[in-house]
Amino acid sequence: MRQDQEDPYQRRSAQVYAAADRAGSGSVASPRPVLYDAVLLDRDGTLIEDVPYNGDPEKVRPVPGARAALDRLRAAGLRLAVVTNQSGLARGYFTGEQMRAVHARVEELLGRFDAWLVCPHDDADGCDCRKPAPGLVYAAARELGTTPSRCVLVGDIGRDVGAAMAAGAAGVLVPTPVTRPEEVAAAGWVATDLPAAVAEILRRQQAVQPSTPPTEPVRTALVVRSDSAGDVLVTGPAIRAVAAGAERVVLLCGPRGRAAANLLPGVDEIIEHPLPWIDPAPGPVDPEAMRSLSARLGAVGADQAVVFTSFHQSALPLALLLRMAGIDRIAAISDDYPGSLLDVRHRVPVGVPEPERALSLAAAAGHRLPDGDEPVLRLRRDAVPPRPADVGDPGYVVLHPGSAASSRACPPEVATRIVGALADAGHRVLVTGGPDERAVTARVAAAGGTDLGGRTDLAGLAAIVADASAVVVGNTGPAHLAAAAGVPVVSLFAPTVPFGQWGPYRVPTVRLGDAAAPCRDTRAASCPVRGHPCLSGVDPGDVLDALRTLAVSGGGGR
Ligand SMILES: [Zn+2]
Repeated sequence: MRQDQEDPYQRRSAQVYAAADRAGSGSVASPRPVLYDAVLLDRDGTLIEDVPYNGDPEKVRPVPGARAALDRLRAAGLRLAVVTNQSGLARGYFTGEQMRAVHARVEELLGRFDAWLVCPHDDADGCDCRKPAPGLVYAAARELGTTPSRCVLVGDIGRDVGAAMAAGAAGVLVPTPVTRPEEVAAAGWVATDLPAAVAEILRRQQAVQPSTPPTEPVRTALVVRSDSAGDVLVTGPAIRAVAAGAERVVLLCGPRGRAAANLLPGVDEIIEHPLPWIDPAPGPVDPEAMRSLSARLGAVGADQAVVFTSFHQSALPLALLLRMAGIDRIAAISDDYPGSLLDVRHRVPVGVPEPERALSLAAAAGHRLPDGDEPVLRLRRDAVPPRPADVGDPGYVVLHPGSAASSRACPPEVATRIVGALADAGHRVLVTGGPDERAVTARVAAAGGTDLGGRTDLAGLAAIVADASAVVVGNTGPAHLAAAAGVPVVSLFAPTVPFGQWGPYRVPTVRLGDAAAPCRDTRAASCPVRGHPCLSGVDPGDVLDALRTLAVSGGGGR
């Protein structure tokens, strides 16, 4: 089930595994690490004005700026495909011949597309290609010689974004007056029109490539990512990029991120030390501890430091400490004026996925992923223990109800109903959680699952997740473990932080929960709204539907 890839870190004997593309049969790994090979475009309402069930070429009207935008993509070397639901064929509203005439007219006006993928079915047909099913995205990637994770799909409704995500592709929503508000709320990436979507695709693609190669070789790079396990995991691709350009990488992390740091390829040495100004429940800043940290950082002898932070954290206090430790090349993202604290002050628009945000900082510091690597999460194989034999054969569903931040946890009563529904549908369910979550996992598992609460550390959890057919989880560390193993995620995502930044990265995903709930964008650690409405309304039936969309069947298969 894993797709082992060539290990660019042999000098560190850190075997890596990532299977982000394992679901994409016929995948072709490109040696060039880029975000995207291809752009997939919905037809009606995205490329051309939506004329319901149109079989008449004369009625084809491109949306404003479409031709120029598509030509920009072509000039950048991206391949283009159209992915379109045409249930009018099933309903007999137009013939295949009429549709082909419409498509010929589209190409006359907008230029050639490298592939056309059409679902001719109706909802009632239950096919696997009608969006939001991911079939057209898989087919397009196959036809274009790439993988879904290297595709970005642009569409005007939730079905388009859903299909992209279910295949592990990126999805951009360009709303029109018919797009429903809840579809806009749920989308992780929204653009005002097609030219704006294209501009942002090209900007993101460019942002992970260094504009100038490093002027001097880097012997020792100090990389910093404080905060929790999930934060450290999503910084992994950027750390691999730095590792590709440095002889030695030392990672400074906090106590809550240490277990995740142990799993990252490319890291030679770890320094664990809390940074109180980063923690959500910050301890006092102890001058003696800071002096000792400064001395430790000075002893690293780093000739470059890259300080990774979340969008709401400041890199500047640590930058001052690094300056005092004698480090004279420091790069970080900072909207605040850094004065002389940073040599590379990088800025990133809101909404960029955290792994790409970090990769773009690495690029600004002169680093990119090595050839043969991919911008996906990865773990060191040698850091992940064997899966315990008593959890059964691979193919189970992992349900992880908890989270360090209770605002992002699945309410236990909802998790309990989900386990019951999964068990009834023939799924084997493993309920996981930390030592302090045993009461919850026991209660939830009693509905028909196996309770693994407190049985695993993070590495052990990674092993269990890697052999799951899917993981049902909130916005918390195990979602990123699943992404690193290429295991599909049913994301019970509390909208306290943006989904586009924190959703499972480059892995087949279905998002559930109320994206427009009042907790949206509050960054609250405990739910500020009575009844935890963003997740309390999740219907177990929706989880079963999500698993079907992700082609995960009951009875252990997938
Ligand atoms: Zn279909």
